[in-house]
Amino acid sequence: MKPSPQRQSTPFELQRQALVDSLRARGVTSSRVLAAMAAVPREQFVPPALVMRAYEDSALPIDNRQTISQPFTVAIMTQALELDEPSRILEIGTGSGYQAAVLAAMGHHVISIERHAALSQRARTVLAAAGYAVTCRVGDGTIGYREGGPYDGIIVTAGAPDVPELLARQLRIGGRMVIPVGSITEQALYRVVRTGEQTWKGEELGQAKFVPLIGRSGWDDSVGR
Ligand code: SAM
Repeated sequence: MKPSPQRQSTPFELQRQALVDSLRARGVTSSRVLAAMAAVPREQFVPPALVMRAYEDSALPIDNRQTISQPFTVAIMTQALELDEPSRILEIGTGSGYQAAVLAAMGHHVISIERHAALSQRARTVLAAAGYAVTCRVGDGTIGYREGGPYDGIIVTAGAPDVPELLARQLRIGGRMVIPVGSITEQALYRVVRTGEQTWKGEELGQAKFVPLIGRSGWDDSVGR
């Protein structure tokens, strides 16, 4: 019997594994998050001109003057949701679709809202081509999407001036939101847990630097121009 030939890893797969190893070395401990990030082809989510930089641990520019988040930030935020079972998640700020793909790769049911229609359309196409079932919607994510909730997890991937109350109310009791809150240029990352019908508990997780969350319960549109 002939041994089956070993499949060679592609250069992108090797770079992806090296990135995941570096995330583990930097303190990302969730094996489910690391496995998802070892599976999602980030090179498909970055703009074509930047594919050679897809596995740098850095945020990269995408269209509409937005960014695909740094892989370390994606890992830390996903881990902070602490959702081990397949769960209902609302993401605010689809951007490239990469964060949504990582959540979908973990088996979560993901609804993602983006205010820029062109970004949402591209993310929808890339997610479908990569095989991730994510519901992408266009609109102001600061008001959430009540029809899809209540959510086990909400992840906000743009910097907010405060925790949007409508979003906090769309968490189920026991559900968690991870959100950067602060100024337009820098924020602290918070985990907000809904502890009861009218009660929430917040915990600071570290520093963050996101593009602004623009909308009814975010910054004014003029800061995004
Ligand atoms: N999660 C994205 C990814 O994986 O590529 C990165 C998101 S980028 C850092 C932040 C995104 O939030 C931008 O695409 C921006 O247009 C979007 N955004 C800002 N305010 C928003 C709002 N009120 N509702 C929905 N999306 C918003």
